Amino acid sequence: MKTQLTNDVEYCAKLLQNGQNIAIPTETVYGLAGIITNVKALKRIFSLKQRPQNNPLIVHIYELNQLDPLTTHVPKKAKQLAEVFWPGPLSMVFPKSNLVNQVISAGLETVAVRMPNHSLTLALLKAVGTPIAAPSANPFTRISPTQAQHVLTYFNQKIPAILDGGSCQVGLESTIVGFDQEQPIIYRKGGISQESIEEIIGPVQVAKSDSAIKSPGMHLKHYSPTTRLILTEDIAAEIEQQSFHHQKIGVISFSNCNYEKAEVVKVLSKTANLTEAAQQLYQTLHELDQLQLDLIITKFLPNHGLGASINDRLQRAKFQ
Ligand code: AMP
Ligand code: MG
Repeated sequence: MKTQLTNDVEYCAKLLQNGQNIAIPTETVYGLAGIITNVKALKRIFSLKQRPQNNPLIVHIYELNQLDPLTTHVPKKAKQLAEVFWPGPLSMVFPKSNLVNQVISAGLETVAVRMPNHSLTLALLKAVGTPIAAPSANPFTRISPTQAQHVLTYFNQKIPAILDGGSCQVGLESTIVGFDQEQPIIYRKGGISQESIEEIIGPVQVAKSDSAIKSPGMHLKHYSPTTRLILTEDIAAEIEQQSFHHQKIGVISFSNCNYEKAEVVKVLSKTANLTEAAQQLYQTLHELDQLQLDLIITKFLPNHGLGASINDRLQRAKFQ
């Protein structure tokens, strides 16, 4: 099957309604979508991604009216967050209704829902009329796609279409917030910082990474390039040490820096801006992974705001 890059929303809506899978743009990363009422389409998402069956999918909606039928209870704090951050890079976990198939929830009694902030995908969701389920459009454990071209590299000839919405503006997966007896818990750090969430609803807990069953996006190995990645405290010292053994070293630097012995240095943000760094992270990993380097060396970013979300991804990317 030929994979078409298109911006024809009506055409993509028909494909989804017919039970096909397509890739969709969002402000976080590209998603691999299927309509929630077609079990075959949902199962195909898992087989295309080689995703473990116990890894639930996020359901995407375009307006709040689509939320109620999916869940039996929406906590007050969730309503407050939805009001401020939807459409946006926030997924929230609710007790699921019978409308949500077990394939989506991977056997859990809950469902994660998000209203993405991308005009093409909002128009698509409206045209389809039924919510769609979509995890990120990358094979399991690989780097998430932030451009249509990344999706094409992964899934060429395996899906009929990619709705091309340009580069993802946020560039990191959504933040996932769940509720335990109305108490908010961050299951996955992402495109909205913990600080921004706490400004609206007060203190939130962050789930430990061993709570992997509740939120499998927390697999230790995830978002990984195929090139070996080293996280260090001191990039210059690490290059010095490694350059004896490796000829080709790539560096990811948060802000402007010069490392002479590196083959290539990628700067995430010349002005040391965390929002820009988040937007550039996966694109940079994709680019470096194409260069047949022996090694990528990088360092944690300042651990606040989106820096904490970026550091979470760097930590997981180093497991190969
Ligand atoms: P992806 O879009 O590939 O990052 O995958 C969706 C992610 O959403 C999963 O890996 C989980 O971390 C999270 N998720 C989806 N549904 C649930 C749920 N019911 N409870 C907790 N986390 C969920
Ligand atoms: Mg993913």
